[in-house]
Amino acid sequence: MSVRPYRDIIRRKSRQIRVGNVLVGGDAPISVQTMTNTLTPDVEATLAQVRAAAEAGADIVRVSCPDEESTAALKAIVKGSPVPIVADIHFHYKRAIEAAEAGAACLRINPGNIGSAERVREVVKAAKDHGCSMRIGVNAGSLERELLERYGEPCPEAMVESALNHAKILEDNDFFEFKISCKASDVFLAVAAYNALAEACDYPLHLGVTEAGGLRMGTIKSSIGLGSLLWAGIGDTVRVSLSAEPVEEVKVGYDILKALGLRRRGVTVISCPSCARQNFQVIKTVEVLEERLSHITTPMTVSVIGCVVNGPGEARETDIGLTGGGNNTHQIYIAGQPDHRLKDKDIVDHLVRLVEQKAAQIEAEKAAAEAAE
Ligand code: SF4
Repeated sequence: MSVRPYRDIIRRKSRQIRVGNVLVGGDAPISVQTMTNTLTPDVEATLAQVRAAAEAGADIVRVSCPDEESTAALKAIVKGSPVPIVADIHFHYKRAIEAAEAGAACLRINPGNIGSAERVREVVKAAKDHGCSMRIGVNAGSLERELLERYGEPCPEAMVESALNHAKILEDNDFFEFKISCKASDVFLAVAAYNALAEACDYPLHLGVTEAGGLRMGTIKSSIGLGSLLWAGIGDTVRVSLSAEPVEEVKVGYDILKALGLRRRGVTVISCPSCARQNFQVIKTVEVLEERLSHITTPMTVSVIGCVVNGPGEARETDIGLTGGGNNTHQIYIAGQPDHRLKDKDIVDHLVRLVEQKAAQIEAEKAAAEAAE
């Protein structure tokens, strides 16, 4: 029995696959994905985006491969990437084979869209030969005509049927190393489709609310859609789709997982909205602090609270806490306990130093424990 059962999320049991060195499904951590928006043949620009995304916490990055020039560039991208690369293929089975040969860790492809059974066999063979997994990507906006005619409009049943039809083609080819996504820009439709798909199969699910919009609305829609599915234990890997830089998608994806306690990475700042009682500029401080702490990957919590109304209470639950006090004298808490006062000093500089020291200490302890094992 857990200490706080109201926080428990019981994950759906999915089979586990591999995307390069990242495990997806089963008891593997829920991975965060994004996609580059550079021209794939521009290897330098694409790699810069892949690296930035990886630095922000992306576990896997997808790259579009619409033409031969792109799959030709893929080899160098895979080689220079710190994370596994998924090749995004639509229709052209030859691009899929080229991408597998170039070292893609996964092919995002719908086997029902690539033509004859022979072509499917060739793609599956290339995937098997090169240790590639696949993702079937169903999208409400591009459902097969036959399904649309039969169901009248994109609906959860049609999406699940489409996904299972594609899956059957791979199963018939004795290929089971794949995950499935069932995306829609409508949150209700996406959530209903994923719920139904989660019931209908045990393949790992890649979650996404597609074409969710710009940074703010897209974040909100993704948080509602992905959040409710993840909370129900559904989902093995996530991609937040935003009309914004890939790094933003990664940050939002991670923060959704962090908010649900499903992943821990970097500093989580707990801060108050501020009001007339604040003893320092809370909003500005948090804005600068989050930026200055973005390089820290060690999981840690920091509370930044404007006054004693909520400061001590929040600090009790965090690794490092600050409560604003009068006369520019603030209280610092370490591991929930009052530790020292900060008078007439720069709050951000001080907190950054404390967090960096704590992160170094945690990492050193972790390394020592691993060495002892
Ligand atoms: S903690 Fe203090 S400063 Fe912050 S919102 Fe509450 S009362 Fe206002």
